[in-house]
Amino acid sequence: MDSSIIGKVDKARKYAEETERVSVTSFKAIFDGKHNIYEVAFDSGNWFCQCLFFTTRGVCSHTMALQRILEDVLSTEKAAVEST
Ligand SMILES: [Zn+2]
Repeated sequence: MDSSIIGKVDKARKYAEETERVSVTSFKAIFDGKHNIYEVAFDSGNWFCQCLFFTTRGVCSHTMALQRILEDVLSTEKAAVEST
């Protein structure tokens, strides 16, 4: 590995610990739930999940679980789910 790549790897290691530098504004995920597999999405603070519970309540165990996993990096503007 050349020295410029080594420098970038060191920088990446530091950045990876400074999660406040990152704001995830959108993503899609596949969630393997207990009974089915669901597509979950996050865009500009709004959540979406394919499951029936989400379509009636606007929140579900899948979106809440992903919010817990990603709470340090998700853009919190207009967050649709409480982080309790
Ligand atoms: Zn769901």
